[in-house]
Amino acid sequence: MERQQEFVLRTLEERDIRFVRLWFTDVLGFLKSVAVAPAELEQAFSEGIGFDGSAIEGFTRVAESDMLAKPDPQTFQILPWRAESPGTARMFCDILMPDGAASYADPRWVLKRTLAKAAERGFTFYTHPEIEFYLFEGQPKPGKAPEPVDRSGYFDLTPHGVGHDFRRQAITHLESMGISVEFSHHEGGPGQQEIDLRYADALSTADNIMTFRHVMKEVALEQGVFASFMPKPLAEHPGSGMHTHLSLFEGDRNAFHEPGAEYSLSKTGRSFIAGLLRHAGELTAVTNQFVNSYKRLFGGGDRSEAPSYISWGHNNRSALVRVPMYKPSKSQSTRVEVRSLDSACNPYLAFAVLLAAGLKGIEEGYELPAGAEDNVWTLTDAERRALGIEPLPSSLSEAISRMEDSELVAETLGEHVFDFFLRNKRAEWSDYRHQVTPFELNRYLPVL
Ligand code: GLN
Ligand code: MG
Ligand code: MG
Ligand code: MG
Repeated sequence: MERQQEFVLRTLEERDIRFVRLWFTDVLGFLKSVAVAPAELEQAFSEGIGFDGSAIEGFTRVAESDMLAKPDPQTFQILPWRAESPGTARMFCDILMPDGAASYADPRWVLKRTLAKAAERGFTFYTHPEIEFYLFEGQPKPGKAPEPVDRSGYFDLTPHGVGHDFRRQAITHLESMGISVEFSHHEGGPGQQEIDLRYADALSTADNIMTFRHVMKEVALEQGVFASFMPKPLAEHPGSGMHTHLSLFEGDRNAFHEPGAEYSLSKTGRSFIAGLLRHAGELTAVTNQFVNSYKRLFGGGDRSEAPSYISWGHNNRSALVRVPMYKPSKSQSTRVEVRSLDSACNPYLAFAVLLAAGLKGIEEGYELPAGAEDNVWTLTDAERRALGIEPLPSSLSEAISRMEDSELVAETLGEHVFDFFLRNKRAEWSDYRHQVTPFELNRYLPVL
């Protein structure tokens, strides 16, 4: 048996772990879990644990519902809020078909496949997310606007602030699960928090983001508040983005770095950004997958700092892609920040399509258009057009149409995930479209 597996089995004994949660992610980015007794694990490692895939969003057609969850021993961690004896641990799983082949419906496999393409060209893909979310009082009540836990703003430090205790407990849990936190602070909206994870290979980061969301929900419950990753929960305040920093390494060498070049950015880095920009429209449905996502991208005006236009810049927070300017002398830190993703995306699928777009740029040698150093929100439509700056899709419906025509996204997600995703999103749009909203009643009923 592999050493990693032996380590897991030994730790279960030594730490008196009685429950092992096997985690995986559905196509829409929701975490799924099945708990098994330690005695089942040896079999889980060798063959996987069977489950009914037809009950999971996007996994199978009913006629072929048997699937297997096979835990990845490298992802073994004890859950710190369940550490007292008898404890609980978790592992992420790969999803297999009954014949043992990787399931075409598993988002983790979609990302692994794309990472393997990058590896064929000698690249390792690293990511580092800045995750924003809100803390609200109590539990959500249908149809009622949520109540933020405080009135603070960006970087505020209030004595006895709820967010303060929350972040402290949350970060302690994350660190004890091997997830390093680089940065944390109060964000711009009332009750809004940001926690930034240290960079890691993209598969670990995606696993870490799934863990992160779950840990935030657990800690919030413990503290009697509610953590929400909804992209735009409050009409008057900024949404919750998940800006993500991307880089490609060749061994120890940062492939985006070139000393002396503009912004220390290599030809590879420039073509990668060009790929992100050229394919931005067609992959937005994946990075921003809900009706509500577009309220963040287009609802907030200047102060919301979410991108609405396809442009890149150096120190420009209205840009979709930014080349951050910190530590220009450190070659390891040259990277690009993509600012469209929101905190409710499926990180496996989002990283896969972003990587595929960047690789396409490198492969085809795309030229990087001129950067926008102006604030693109304050330009007129005509000025933006003259600069060749297009808007991102402005609604889920538009994003779906763009995705439908995308060879790049179809190829990256694979036929099954691509078709399921589009079908699911068309249904969401159609549910939304026939709503009569409070906005309409307030605006029209009194006067029409
Ligand atoms: N909340 C903003 C967004 O939605 C980002 C704010 C910031 O980090 N500058 O993207
Ligand atoms: Mg930040
Ligand atoms: Mg932020
Ligand atoms: Mg940022």
